[in-house]
Amino acid sequence: MGDSAVRVENGLTEKSVHEDPQFATITAQAGFCKEENFVNRTGHGKAICTASTYEFDSLEEHMAATHVYRRDGHPNSDDMAHAIACLESAETGLATSSGMGAVVCTVLSLMKGGDTVLVHGDTYGGTNALFEEDVRRFGMNVEFVDVLDVVALEAALTRCTETPSGSGDGRVIVFCETITNPLIRVADVTAISSVCKRFGALLVVDNTFGTPLRSKPLLQGADLVVHSATKFLGGHSDLIAGTVVGSAKLVKQARAVAVRWGLTVSPFEAWLCTRSIRTLQIRLERAWTTSEKLAARLRGEKHGILEVNSAPKCAVLSFLVVGGLHGAKTLAKTLSFIKVASSLGGVTTTVSHPASDSHGDLRPEERERLGIHDGLIRVSVGIEDFEDISNDLLRAVRAAAAATPDK
Ligand SMILES: *Cc1c(COP(=O)(O)O)cnc(C)c1O
Repeated sequence: MGDSAVRVENGLTEKSVHEDPQFATITAQAGFCKEENFVNRTGHGKAICTASTYEFDSLEEHMAATHVYRRDGHPNSDDMAHAIACLESAETGLATSSGMGAVVCTVLSLMKGGDTVLVHGDTYGGTNALFEEDVRRFGMNVEFVDVLDVVALEAALTRCTETPSGSGDGRVIVFCETITNPLIRVADVTAISSVCKRFGALLVVDNTFGTPLRSKPLLQGADLVVHSATKFLGGHSDLIAGTVVGSAKLVKQARAVAVRWGLTVSPFEAWLCTRSIRTLQIRLERAWTTSEKLAARLRGEKHGILEVNSAPKCAVLSFLVVGGLHGAKTLAKTLSFIKVASSLGGVTTTVSHPASDSHGDLRPEERERLGIHDGLIRVSVGIEDFEDISNDLLRAVRAAAAATPDK
């Protein structure tokens, strides 16, 4: 699939759009393919194509077919991958069974025994465990370095490549997230990628928290971008999927791993994700506005809150409530319509307790070192009314403060 194919697949042609289409147009058109590669249509939308195998009347037809067996790819996964590749300005993309599936495909396709990955210690818990447990077990070197700090990154790259031109034996890969969870540290991808390039290291960016509306890491020098589409792209807490986007060459290698290891997406999840992408921009813009107002209101709260972590254009924020674990528990049970949930990025506002949930597997000292204290509460801001969200949260913060002696 070439660059132009991406555009045509989204139903946008030279005739309909003279300039490069804007984000809102690309998202709204997601999955409305011009080239139909299968016949089922349901009204204006595409059907979910569940066939595990495709049938043909001749060997010639079989040999020329785009789809032959579902694990290799199917029309719904093509739609999803094309849509996200467009959003990320990528040459091409791959849809995977989950965000972890996407991370696994990148690692297994880029690395071999003896290679080194540099990754920050506060990545998503599953990613952290994958590097710590499996990647190490397969004979690759894993170094936990704060790669968001370009000075630390440069020092680490100097150590693991013999010369600045990168003539060490093994390949070096740098893995980072555009915005970290739950402390909302924002990566300067341009600065990180320029250091990586100087040392001949490949850069893989998890853009789940950034979202392609806020940041497009490939345009800032990243080699591959992964997403947990389970979060903002899916947006309704009802699907699990992931994606890898980048150059045709690297995505082809990742796809081969996805097919062999059985990590490709199901038709239903892909269809659901493509449909959700059509409202991505309006969902994000609303949640971002609420999140910024909420962060300001939390910062203005005199008692009960020790620190607030937030960034512009990010629907996730976190804050430290007084009273440690007891304060966090009081807060959680005082909330009314805001529920406790592990995941994030959906249309409803949810809270989580990173110390016992996403980062519960880390040693307590490691959690403290990273700043993930027992009183830390993560909020995934949804699209409900701002005053309702704010009132529910502040009432719970005040209950936590009242339950804490000597606050
Ligand atoms: C959730 C998440 C993942 C893992 O995605 P799954 O879809 O749950 O497999 C990876 N990276 C980040 C940043 C995430 O938030």
